[in-house]
Amino acid sequence: MDKQKAENQIKALVELLNQYGYEYYVLDQPSVPDAEYDEKLRELQKLEQEFPELITDESPTQRIGGEPLDAFKKVQHNVPMLSLGNAFHEQDLRDFARRASSGTDQPVTYVCELKIDGLAISLTYENGKFVRGATRGDGTTGEDITNNLRTIRSIPLTIKEKGTLEVRGEAFMPHKSFLALNEAKEKNEEEPFANPRNAAAGSLRQLDPKIAAQRNLDIFLYGVGEWEGSEITSHSGRLEKLKALGFKTNPEWKKCESIEEVLEFVSYWTTERPNLSYEIDGIVVKVDDLNQQEELGYTAKSPRWAIAYKFPAEEAITKLREIELSIGRTGVITPTAILDPVKVAGTTVQRASLHNEDLIREQDIRIGDTVVIKKAGDIIPKVVRAVIEKRTGEEQEFHMPTECPACGSELVRLEEEVALRCINPNCPAQLMEGLIHFVSRNAMNIDGLGEKVIIQLFQEKLIHTIADLYRLNRDELLRLERMGDKSVTNLLQAIEASKENSLERLLFGLGIRFIGAKAAKTLAMEFGTMDKLQQASFEALIAVDEIGDKMADSIVQYFSEDKVTELLQDLRDLNINMEYKGPKKPEAEIDSAFAGKTVVLTGKMENYSRNEAKELIESLGGTVTGSVSKKTDMLVAGEDAGSKLDKAQKLGIEIWNEQQLKEAVEG
Ligand code: NAD
Repeated sequence: MDKQKAENQIKALVELLNQYGYEYYVLDQPSVPDAEYDEKLRELQKLEQEFPELITDESPTQRIGGEPLDAFKKVQHNVPMLSLGNAFHEQDLRDFARRASSGTDQPVTYVCELKIDGLAISLTYENGKFVRGATRGDGTTGEDITNNLRTIRSIPLTIKEKGTLEVRGEAFMPHKSFLALNEAKEKNEEEPFANPRNAAAGSLRQLDPKIAAQRNLDIFLYGVGEWEGSEITSHSGRLEKLKALGFKTNPEWKKCESIEEVLEFVSYWTTERPNLSYEIDGIVVKVDDLNQQEELGYTAKSPRWAIAYKFPAEEAITKLREIELSIGRTGVITPTAILDPVKVAGTTVQRASLHNEDLIREQDIRIGDTVVIKKAGDIIPKVVRAVIEKRTGEEQEFHMPTECPACGSELVRLEEEVALRCINPNCPAQLMEGLIHFVSRNAMNIDGLGEKVIIQLFQEKLIHTIADLYRLNRDELLRLERMGDKSVTNLLQAIEASKENSLERLLFGLGIRFIGAKAAKTLAMEFGTMDKLQQASFEALIAVDEIGDKMADSIVQYFSEDKVTELLQDLRDLNINMEYKGPKKPEAEIDSAFAGKTVVLTGKMENYSRNEAKELIESLGGTVTGSVSKKTDMLVAGEDAGSKLDKAQKLGIEIWNEQQLKEAVEG
């Protein structure tokens, strides 16, 4: 490949991988499965090997993990917390063994451990007391999450060891807790966590330790940073001692005298993995002898005495029995594969996403096919392909219906969309989904009105529109199955209470296309009342920050419908609040240097905490965001400002110091 082409490719890969890394490490919300990330990373590594002069500091191959979040106090790791080199094939492990053997004179013994898919953390004990717990962060600076870690019951708060001891391990979320958490999230219409690792990281990086406490996390300790006065000479010896001190270590580790034995361990756990009650994503192989470890040393990113073998993304084969269609609130028809139950990555899978008709056609997937399904960190597994060799001739091609399975009206494909939609506003399936959305947590938040009750009410013809919810009476409800006196009282109270909700909840609950919870809040804050919003023109709408053409169009269109006017009148007559009750939008006329500006904070300040500074700037009409970009107007930099300051300087952004901030605030 010529150098120019390689340079472009490297640039594109670095940008993409850094975006993925940010989503994964900082937001705890990956947008692609790990296998896909790893594949792209290997592509980048290959190019960088070929053109080492093109390696930049920004490359993910040169960095460990992600930036620590500003919300937490920072912790410096005296001994860096490194990552591990990866192995994907048997040959990679053999190469590792060869390098290890040639790096030391004595024969090498290995310790194999399960690679727990969680979050690397460090626990520091001084004089036998647990004093600090931190994340790995970027390897040298982590986040102080002591209070959250204290909620994990298997972490001892005191130990019988006097000197300073910093132990390291993996905090994780067992399958059971993970499934329960995601079920609850889905019920509340919140984005589920993609995998137990992100769920563990997300839970430990909450500011409120009560949340971490509810998440049922656990921990395995597998290593040591600092250990004052220890005379232990092997990794296995350390594991035993840690256990004796009362730390929870994983019992499934093994000393192996040869690489053949290591490979056996790997192959055993490749098949046994689904039987564990927690997720593992590979096997870690470490050189046992600590002197040999020292001889082998480190690269900038990882020790040369250890390697992580990664399991391939899990696939399974099963039969596709049926293709089910579901109709969403906005009328989109989605095909889902109904499968013979099969176990993949520790969970039983019975449904898999098929996305849309084009994809089914492209991949030639038929009803009755034997199919490969894949689960690579995703919640809903995907059908990857049909096993054509297994076809018997009985399989049937799938065709999307031309009519809505719920109401019979003709389905349409809107311009630029792959999905088919039912556009009948009276389609019962959509109305029901709309009602489920209306009562959901981020919308009107009506307790006791879950999906099941809505379906029941709908089927009993007690409700057709949102307004009908507010006309339900006691006698009707008591006639329903499983509705006792007490639950009816509670339900009626919750419905009554929802009448007082601030405008944004109602707005979001109405289910206007493209208007999510955030946009609803912005609109409510900006216009204040439903009346004003109803009268707003397209121009007035797009003048609002964060409201684009598509949203504005959709709002104008929505309010122009007679049915909507009727519905809103109904709701008014039923005394549903239509005014915004939240905090006021900062007045645009505020005469301050920050008014209307996008501001980023960085570094330590003497007089203000990060939050105080943020609140002050916001009270002066500014918006504070987390990262520097072309859209940033100002950077306020305290002491020890780092990369954000560099970036702001590069972009020519106005930079203020703390003193200037103080003067602006006081002035
Ligand atoms: P890693 O997960 O490959 O390996 C290092 C980590 O293994 C250690 O930090 C430690 O936390 C863990 N570990 C578990 N058990 C261990 C044991 N017994 N001994 C020692 N360590 C053990 O490296 P990484 O740098 O933490 O992260 C890379 C991973 O993150 C890859 O799996 C990658 O796919 C994933 N990732 C995914 C995305 C995405 O967008 N999906 C983005 C970035 C990274």
